[in-house]
Amino acid sequence: MNVLVINAGSSSLKYQLIDMDTQVVMAKGLCERIGIDGSRLKHTPSGEETVLLEQPMKDHSDAIQMVIDALIDKNYGVINDMSAIDAVGHRVVHGGEYFNQSVIINDDVKKKIDECGALAPLHNPANLIGIEACQKAMPGVPMVAVFDTAFHQTMPPEAYMYALPYEYYEKHKIRKYGFHGTSHYYVANRCAALMNRPIEELRIITLHLGNGSSITAVDKGKSVDTSMGFTPLAGVPMGTRSGVIDPAIIPYIMEKENLSIDEVNSVLNKKSGVLGVSGLSSDFRDLETAAAEGDKKAQLALDMFEYSVKRYIGYYASVMGGVDALVFTAGVGENNIPLRERVLSNMEFMGIACDPEKNNVRGKEVEITKYGAAVRSFVIPTNEELTIALDTKKLLA
Ligand code: AMP
Repeated sequence: MNVLVINAGSSSLKYQLIDMDTQVVMAKGLCERIGIDGSRLKHTPSGEETVLLEQPMKDHSDAIQMVIDALIDKNYGVINDMSAIDAVGHRVVHGGEYFNQSVIINDDVKKKIDECGALAPLHNPANLIGIEACQKAMPGVPMVAVFDTAFHQTMPPEAYMYALPYEYYEKHKIRKYGFHGTSHYYVANRCAALMNRPIEELRIITLHLGNGSSITAVDKGKSVDTSMGFTPLAGVPMGTRSGVIDPAIIPYIMEKENLSIDEVNSVLNKKSGVLGVSGLSSDFRDLETAAAEGDKKAQLALDMFEYSVKRYIGYYASVMGGVDALVFTAGVGENNIPLRERVLSNMEFMGIACDPEKNNVRGKEVEITKYGAAVRSFVIPTNEELTIALDTKKLLA
């Protein structure tokens, strides 16, 4: 069975075609600048050079057609014809309270994804356009929606409610939803497998640290709390997002800086985080380099990020009554060696310690626990596409 995994953004579309018998990625790629001048498709067949195809894509339907053409192309394609695509798995960011697991897409599901668009205006409409473009290009091929929020639907109300008037929850659905669920689910389960123990016995803290970051308490295989909230703006400071701040700051800076709602949203989402503090970059590699050269604001941004991550480790260990394992994943979590070491420093009191030699690794599945430490620490590269494809296969079986 071959599953095409689609992650549609407002002007981009990522894809992977996965052979589910071997779990091998046959080809992957990215359509960029959909609906904008200079549209292009970068297509990479497994083990081969990336092919760059520059061609106008006026909308997502054009993009999907280009993806299919690339997949069946005589020179750089990986399948003979479209009938070799057995199913499509779509990443959908927000499933609200409707979806606590993946579902086969039908009209009712599409209606609910559309409704949840109010909660994720930058993502759900694009995800839905991707679904409809695929349905048009591949009529009759079954499609599955896999939600970023679904894994966190097991949080108890004391974790997901905000201390606001209750009617806002009823009227406007204001509560914590959490994001990156597919990633937290995947790495928590890989962690249990590496520990050779049933996940139902384990308390795991998963640290998805990338340009966007979130941390989750996974108790007995279920998400019981997570750092992102109503939107992906909450939690630790991120590349350009503020993370949690005192909410009173928002009306205060709106008044002092004469900012509109759109402007303050843009400050919090695009001009804050480690970019805002350092005034330099949202990329952790640039910050490490600048800090090593003595840039004090870059150092402060890194210190704030690490402090915040540490805080969540203590917080979630107390929520679960202890912790058995920590997992680092995503761009920063998988690759930033000194940052992992600093986050795990001074935590011996909790049974947490990392071995600097074992930790000297990037982008590989490895245990980094110091000999004798009670809590085991791991680096586990995330694989959201495989999780989406596995869910798709499972639902269609
Ligand atoms: P993501 O959003 O998961 O793609 O993560 C992006 C972040 O990962 C950026 O801030 C990068 O600095 C960081 N990152 C990616 N690769 C490396 C690397 N080799 N070393 C250090 N940081 C990295």
